[in-house]
Amino acid sequence: MSQPILSLLLELLLELFFMVCFLSLPRLISSAVDQIMDSRIPLRRAFCIVRPPGHHAGREGILESSNSQGFCIFNSIAIGALYALETFEEIERVAIVDFDIHHGDGTQDIVQGRKDILFISSHAYDDNFYPFSGSDDELRNVGNVLNIPLDIAFASLSFRRSYQTIVYPALEKFKPNLIFVSAGFDARKGDSLAPLRDKTGLLPEDYYAVSLDLARIANKYCQGRIVSALEGGYGSEALAECSTAHTSGFMDAGLEEILTGAESI
Ligand SMILES: [Zn+2]
Repeated sequence: MSQPILSLLLELLLELFFMVCFLSLPRLISSAVDQIMDSRIPLRRAFCIVRPPGHHAGREGILESSNSQGFCIFNSIAIGALYALETFEEIERVAIVDFDIHHGDGTQDIVQGRKDILFISSHAYDDNFYPFSGSDDELRNVGNVLNIPLDIAFASLSFRRSYQTIVYPALEKFKPNLIFVSAGFDARKGDSLAPLRDKTGLLPEDYYAVSLDLARIANKYCQGRIVSALEGGYGSEALAECSTAHTSGFMDAGLEEILTGAESI
């Protein structure tokens, strides 16, 4: 076989391999839901390391209000939430919490108006920052969307305060049976794609604290069940640190539950 034909075949095989992996992504999150719902498996918390991210992909893919899907093709977190609601009778209400630095406009597009899903997105917001949406009054009238726009250069204090004063009370009021997390780590100080991240931004400790609190709320209302999917985060070292902090928060909340048997957070 000639060299050019061999190269072409290898290239096609490689593309086929990536296509198969890529198309299996939506199945990954539904499989995570299956496992945490299976009473025979002592697993209550899942973190799905998926790429590409998904929260900018809307009902029809690209949104009318946007000129890009920001790397996203399949909205993993929305797929997981809808799958859980349609598959398990005991799941009547799910909450999706999105702490990626970008507004989860695709997720919002898919779930807006549903009484059985509460969608909360905290994100940097101004007129020049992608995806240029997510003001605090956007879709407030639909009843299930809570946008928390933060200063473009937000850091630990305002991020954590917004969770203490807005996100946790909203979850307490909604009382979900299952919590999903769109875990984007691109608000991390030093992340390569976010503005001003070299000067300000979040630290792994912030992701640990919020993940611990979310998992504690899951202990209280969801029998500990919480499913997270990776969204943004583009520096490999920072991404590894933040992912570790995120899962450590989940694990420590599980440990607390075992050691104390307490349901309060
Ligand atoms: Zn992002």
